[in-house]
Amino acid sequence: MIYDVIIIGAGCVGAMTARLLSSKRCKVAVVEAAADVATGATAANSAIVHAGYDAKPGTLKARLNVRGNHLMKQLCRQLGVELKEVGSHVIGFSEDDRKTLEELYQRGLANGVPGMRIIDGEELHRMEPNVSPEATCSLWAPSAAITCPYGITIAAAENAATNGVDFYLNFKVIDSSAAGGIRYITNGETTLSARYIINCAGVHSAEVAEILGEHDFPVNIIPRRGEYYILDKASSGIANSTLFVCPSDRGKGILVSPTVHGNVIVGPNAYPIEDPDDKSVTSEGLAEIAQGAKKIIPKIDIRAAITSFAGVRPTPNIYDFYIRRSEQLDGVIHAVGVESPGFAASPAVAEYILELLEESGFDPDDRDDYIPTRRTDGNPVQFNMMTEEQKAEACRRDPAYGKIICRCETVTEGDIIDAIEAPIPSVTIDMVKRRLRAGMGRCQGGFCSPRVAALIAEKTGTTLDRVTKFGGGSWLVRKRGADHE
Ligand SMILES: Cc1cc2nc3c(=O)[nH]c(=O)nc-3n(C[C@H](O)[C@H](O)[C@H](O)COP(=O)(O)OP(=O)(O)OC[C@H]3O[C@@H](n4cnc5c(N)ncnc54)[C@H](O)[C@@H]3O)c2cc1C
Repeated sequence: MIYDVIIIGAGCVGAMTARLLSSKRCKVAVVEAAADVATGATAANSAIVHAGYDAKPGTLKARLNVRGNHLMKQLCRQLGVELKEVGSHVIGFSEDDRKTLEELYQRGLANGVPGMRIIDGEELHRMEPNVSPEATCSLWAPSAAITCPYGITIAAAENAATNGVDFYLNFKVIDSSAAGGIRYITNGETTLSARYIINCAGVHSAEVAEILGEHDFPVNIIPRRGEYYILDKASSGIANSTLFVCPSDRGKGILVSPTVHGNVIVGPNAYPIEDPDDKSVTSEGLAEIAQGAKKIIPKIDIRAAITSFAGVRPTPNIYDFYIRRSEQLDGVIHAVGVESPGFAASPAVAEYILELLEESGFDPDDRDDYIPTRRTDGNPVQFNMMTEEQKAEACRRDPAYGKIICRCETVTEGDIIDAIEAPIPSVTIDMVKRRLRAGMGRCQGGFCSPRVAALIAEKTGTTLDRVTKFGGGSWLVRKRGADHE
């Protein structure tokens, strides 16, 4: 079959684009190198739906951030993903900082960010009592929000799959060719073809541009790693909104923010690295972010950390996102260098990609049978999001919803079975974890992982020793005498 469109990369940009295209009369595929959607930068970032005052007016970044902020709120409502409109402060400690806040405020006005104000220390401390007494002012942006970046990406991908988009996981594009207006991509074993190819490969997007046949591609990607701590829910309340310091030439700096799941996130730092896939954390990096957090909230207790992680930014050598039709290759669109605020912008990036497709001559009609939501019965997608009545009804319907598998995050056997049987089936422990948070609580999966693995084995008709953490050879259990080649 020849697809109309193949999207390379199932991060937030690829998944949102797939979902938008699934509302049209066309045949779409998404190919993803990893064993799941939302595993790249989309899985490891600060989760802030930025208001949009950072980017220079007139840039794509500025326009798509402000539009994306608005669309993300709609999308989360539509797909049943939690989003909290907590707002953000950029905190100033000096006269120089105040000047920076004034510049950000003016940028925000030019970019169309609603409701911003520069407030004095007294008002800031009323809103955020734990902020350092040395803080003298802040830029308050009420439209900033927090959500779960991989949660909304998985939801968008699943919704796209429900509407007929084909997902090819474990499909790393390594070569391509073109003939007669059709483009072919291959992972070495399977070849797929399409009229249009959209490159949404994140930190590998410049490399994928070359695989697609670009010569002297004008953008380089510099991978820049950022490290984080997640603090236990006992720390919740230490910050009511996202707390930034003034940005520097290394980006937005270390922040402290509530997460949508009730934890506190602290980080990131920003260092260029050689290997774009190196998501390791370092003791020096974690010490640096602990120190940065204490500047904002001196009494923050970093010993409340339950985990640490790192994400890698696809920083381009140009200031802006590079989202364009290829100048050399017909039918190719690149979304390259979509660094922060790329998550916040992603629903608007998807809209923009559709505009570029239209300019290329591809403008399919809307479908009348498009399903824009994930559940048609009106229930939340997860037990722990249900009302007491909905929970009672779910348990009556299926007693599996009455069996708690992850006690830290209240994830039931029914939820896990739903995830295993979803349009993009969860067949690894991390797939279940990213969808339901089983394993993301205080015990970090110590209790629930074996039970999740057993359920995956049972429901997919395999044996426990074949179940992996994240695909490939990441087996957890070794059968005596068995050979895990
Ligand atoms: C530390 C950090 C903090 C950030 N904080 C924020 C924030 O608070 N708010 C915000 O708005 N943004 C933030 N960002 C930016 C945001 O995470 C990114 O802009 C966004 O996730 C980019 O999404 P993407 O879909 O372009 O890339 P990705 O999520 O990286 O997805 C690209 C996908 O392409 C796949 N791929 C790569 N090569 C191939 C291939 N050859 N074949 C097939 N598939 C391939 C990858 O496996 C990957 O899944 C942050 C980023 C980082 C790293």
